Amino acid sequence: MSILVLAEHDQGKLSAATARIVAGTNALGPVDLLVAGPRAVADDAASIEGVSRVLVLEADQALTGEQLALVLKGMTDRYTVIVAAAAATGRDVIPRLAALCDVMPITDIVEILSTDRFVRPIYAGNALETVRSAQKLTLLTLRASAFSPAGRQSPAPVEPIALDILPAVANLLAEHRTDGDRPDLSTARIVVAGGVSVGSREGFTLIENLATALGAAVGATRAAVDAGYAPNDWQVGQTGKIIAPDLYIGVGISGALQHLAGIQGAKTILAINSDPDAPLCKIADLVLVGDLFELVPELIGELERRGLKR
Ligand SMILES: Cc1cc2nc3c(=O)[nH]c(=O)nc-3n(C[C@H](O)[C@H](O)[C@H](O)COP(=O)(O)OP(=O)(O)OC[C@H]3O[C@@H](n4cnc5c(N)ncnc54)[C@H](O)[C@@H]3O)c2cc1C
Repeated sequence: MSILVLAEHDQGKLSAATARIVAGTNALGPVDLLVAGPRAVADDAASIEGVSRVLVLEADQALTGEQLALVLKGMTDRYTVIVAAAAATGRDVIPRLAALCDVMPITDIVEILSTDRFVRPIYAGNALETVRSAQKLTLLTLRASAFSPAGRQSPAPVEPIALDILPAVANLLAEHRTDGDRPDLSTARIVVAGGVSVGSREGFTLIENLATALGAAVGATRAAVDAGYAPNDWQVGQTGKIIAPDLYIGVGISGALQHLAGIQGAKTILAINSDPDAPLCKIADLVLVGDLFELVPELIGELERRGLKR
């Protein structure tokens, strides 16, 4: 079995998801890692434990999903398993590659049981199914938050590869980023999320202030995003980001199934809600019952008094 993992990286930095999916994939054996990007990212990736070698495909500009799928198609004669994170790049590339190779991808895997059996959530995370694959080529996306990051090792060899990068039908014209110095929502240790009950965009700054006091990432429910109180990329849940922080604080969030689907990996959940019977309060480890407009400023004040900012 020969295994290739596609590294996730952004703005010249290796994504934290890569060490997690390498750790998950190591259940199948040692892996080669493909970095379609800068050499510096490849050098960093070489120290992820479980990586046998890093193949680096340097390109003048970021490759589109369409181009990456064609690159990987050209490597299917050498690899029987190709893995990517169930994140922006992997979700774009793996289905395209599957179509090119006429195989069925197995996506969003949370556990690898054996070389041909994989566990993945269904029904918005309310059930887990085990999938057996009898295909000659196995294409997988792994949910990074389901796996602990691999450790570090002395660097594996890094080998530049030269492959034709075919022109794509679609071209990347521009990237529009929301800049900020907050931790990345998908991999943050602490997440403070707000619901529609904050009442306005200005009201949502209360959530952001609590996150700042804790050095946390900010999340939101879909209802808060739809109301225009929070940007789209803060949405947590079935149709948003899947997160697995050590501490998740849900402020004025009811805990609808579609939201819970995104926080199942959270280790400790604190719910702040005026309704003790809200579904989030039922599954939370800690509940603060009361008005968020009173409790959150109190919490921020207490954190500041104790100098608890991490
Ligand atoms: C196909 C589909 C996909 C979806 N995907 C997602 C998804 O990815 N993520 C997601 O979040 N949702 C998703 N939803 C929407 C989801 O069903 C809920 O509508 C949404 O999560 C509810 O958001 P909320 O908790 O902010 O609002 P509500 O459900 O209205 O809850 C508000 C909560 O705030 C509390 N509250 C009110 N005032 C205060 C106060 N002053 N102080 C303290 N607490 C207060 C209330 O008691 C209540 O519990 C999806 C829905 C569908 C149909």
